[in-house]
Amino acid sequence: MSSHRIPLIAGNWKMHKTGTEAVAAAGQLKDLVDKASGVEVMIAPTFTALYQVSQVLKGSSIALAAQNLHWEPKGAFTGEISTEMLVDAGCSQVIIGHSERRQLFGETDETVNRKIQAAAAAGLLPVFCIGETEAQREAGETFSVLDKQVRDGLKGFVFDGSTNLVVAYEPVWAIGTGKTATREQAQEAHAYIRSLLKTLFGKTVAESVRILYGGSVKPDNVKALMAMPDVDGALVGGASLDPETFSKLVFFN
Ligand code: PGA
Repeated sequence: MSSHRIPLIAGNWKMHKTGTEAVAAAGQLKDLVDKASGVEVMIAPTFTALYQVSQVLKGSSIALAAQNLHWEPKGAFTGEISTEMLVDAGCSQVIIGHSERRQLFGETDETVNRKIQAAAAAGLLPVFCIGETEAQREAGETFSVLDKQVRDGLKGFVFDGSTNLVVAYEPVWAIGTGKTATREQAQEAHAYIRSLLKTLFGKTVAESVRILYGGSVKPDNVKALMAMPDVDGALVGGASLDPETFSKLVFFN
């Protein structure tokens, strides 16, 4: 964590919680984290719960995010959701390129790039996910994988005041497995990503962009991860589903 980047603790609810359940959890979370200061909080419920949850979050500082989008503004794209629809449903952020979307639903660096551009153009903060698989790490390819994902995912991206993008480093082997990266492994990857952002977009951008760590973040490891200089927050799956547990991550300090 650095003193000039505001930490972001983000909950990715994935395909969990109906609208009714999401409303209840968001209401509980709102009460629990109301007094949090010096930290931003985001939750990403499933599409069908977004509007209802946005009504619950009114008057709170918790940001609402979607878990995906389509880059086309409208048209014959059955089953897809546009940026305008997300903004209308109350979203201000969107998770893009999560490894589950890359692995299970055929997302590529090219579609991720289109989505990032569309999100930023609509004023939605993209939370751009990258990370290597276990096999890639074991083959010593972690940095080259991250390099390609960042270069291709951000091709043509224009930073606006350098804060219109968040990166989430999520080693695939640590997601939902209970195997967290060590804080040294996280710091090493985050520092690599930041130096690449510096090469591609300059020092101001690199020093302003928040890089979240994701992969089995829990109340008992969040503090150690957040103590690392280039870890600016967490993207949390499993431990975000229970408001009490998630609030412990928000109050990591
Ligand atoms: P996890 O998921 O916290 O359950 O490992 C993280 C994520 O997929 O964003």
